[in-house]
Amino acid sequence: MSSRYQIYSFSKDISAYKKFMLEQDLRRAIQHNKFELYYQPQIDANDGIIKGAEALIRWNHEEWGLVSPGEFISIAEKNHLIFDLTNWIIGEVCQQLQTWKTEGYTLRPISINISPICFLQDEFVDSVKQQLATTQISPKYIVFEITENKALTERENAKLILTKLRNIGIKIAIDDYGTGYTSVQYLHDFDVDMIKIDQMFIQSIDDVNDKDASIVASLIHLAKGLGITVVGEGVETYEQLQFLKQKECDLIQGYLFSKPVPLKKFKKMMKTGY
Ligand code: C2E
Ligand code: CA
Ligand code: CA
Ligand code: CA
Repeated sequence: MSSRYQIYSFSKDISAYKKFMLEQDLRRAIQHNKFELYYQPQIDANDGIIKGAEALIRWNHEEWGLVSPGEFISIAEKNHLIFDLTNWIIGEVCQQLQTWKTEGYTLRPISINISPICFLQDEFVDSVKQQLATTQISPKYIVFEITENKALTERENAKLILTKLRNIGIKIAIDDYGTGYTSVQYLHDFDVDMIKIDQMFIQSIDDVNDKDASIVASLIHLAKGLGITVVGEGVETYEQLQFLKQKECDLIQGYLFSKPVPLKKFKKMMKTGY
């Protein structure tokens, strides 16, 4: 009993210590460009071709190794470093697209996760416009993923910004779709291009008759009826893929095809498939 307690409190100390250290290091890491984007391909459910990818950030930390965004995005949001970080991510994606273009790759839309607090900032739209202008990348290759829960609570403001972004030609995806309690209301209130069905639903599809299967099928049906592209996220099994295909889900993202991979590997995938 007492040794178990010690192990528990030790690991708790470690994680508190790590969090504290990450908080300390984040600003410097941004200044010294210690981040890297990984790319996870999105595959066309019908022909198996890579039709896009999601950019997912990683932090190469001297002491802790590759730190996952789950461990530092909320810190970055709390101390407002997320603005610089997001700017860097958007710039990096635009630059990559530009490079791929000159290297003769077929360009595909790249999805970028945008924290609600960035998205709702006044300067956000202008800074995005500027990044696109500098790199001369067509906005049709950029998708912004916004989580349903937080971003869209400031409805009027959010609506204005979404409209501005879509007028530029940027696509908007609702991330983790289905986890908010007013999902249908969102589709009524906002014009979006894409929904990403949350992996929690997809991974709990056990057989075609269970509750989660019905939920996923209805979400797809609803979105398709509105002309919205549907991405199934977190697809890990062939059965999940078959189910989504049968329900006419458009794009598939998940470990079944590929984990998020470093740039070099993603470029290879764009050439030769996953
Ligand atoms: P998310 O946007 O929902 O991203 C999907 C997460 O699911 C990724 O984790 C991805 O690696 C993981 N995933 C994809 N397919 C599968 C699968 O088949 N099985 C399982 N178990 N997992 C799968 P990751 O990269 O650790 O990112 C976690 C979260 O951190 C993201 O969730 C997103 O909310 C946030 N995030 C990541 N990159 C960024 C970024 O550049 N900016 C911001 N603001 N947030 C980011
Ligand atoms: Ca996402
Ligand atoms: Ca998601
Ligand atoms: Ca189930």
